[in-house]
Amino acid sequence: MFTYDYHIHTRLSPCADKHLSIDMIVQIQQSRGMEEVGITDHDFSYGSRTKNIDRARKAIDECESSIVVRLGAESHMLEYRVPSIDIRFAAYFDYILMAPNHYHFRGVARPTHLMDPRKVAVHELYMFEAAIACPITDVVVHPFVLSPEVFGFSKEGFSEFGREVMDYLDQKRLINQLDAASQRGIGIEISPKFIKYNQPHLVEFYQLCLDREVKLMIGSDAHNAQQLEELVMLEPVLKELGVSEECLWRPREWQW
Ligand SMILES: [Zn+2]
Ligand SMILES: [Zn+2]
Repeated sequence: MFTYDYHIHTRLSPCADKHLSIDMIVQIQQSRGMEEVGITDHDFSYGSRTKNIDRARKAIDECESSIVVRLGAESHMLEYRVPSIDIRFAAYFDYILMAPNHYHFRGVARPTHLMDPRKVAVHELYMFEAAIACPITDVVVHPFVLSPEVFGFSKEGFSEFGREVMDYLDQKRLINQLDAASQRGIGIEISPKFIKYNQPHLVEFYQLCLDREVKLMIGSDAHNAQQLEELVMLEPVLKELGVSEECLWRPREWQW
């Protein structure tokens, strides 16, 4: 079992459980045998105020724990060259997760036709390219994982639609992007979401990432305590992919 989880929300994120504190997360993760975790609330949760970041770092320092706790943030691309977070503000975090497809958030460019897999494929790739090109991106989170919140499909229909979207992706452009990610040390997230949303075909995408020497980042994207446990859903997948420690993305050690 891998003992990292670099994508966890606290109650600071409006979409997360109101009781989920940093301390609670650290206690749970420690009891589960995790070695290193990352707290990653949505960037807007900090209201662009560095004193809110200081507060989060203080809460981390005050946790009595033996595990390493990092402070990252989840940002998203609004469109090409336009991330949701100010680049200077981003520097205060240990790492930045960049979401290419937060279509449920205001200001994010959406596919012109949500029911047309070809149009969705073109748009997903454009946003993926935008996330890779963004200078502050450390990890691209949930690329090509289609959210039921946005696409009004049944769980069964989703699998079919998601596969069609992947089939329409321009492979050459996709590989170019993965090679760029590999060169720059950008990770690609693998989270239980793709299993929960019934998109098993994405295993082929994660395989392609590994083939192009792109590191995978393990993140639960938990919004409540229960979801922290869902990481175990990934175990058979990681095994099937033959993922070893060297294939995993980890935050850089900054020497100040
Ligand atoms: Zn997200
Ligand atoms: Zn998230």
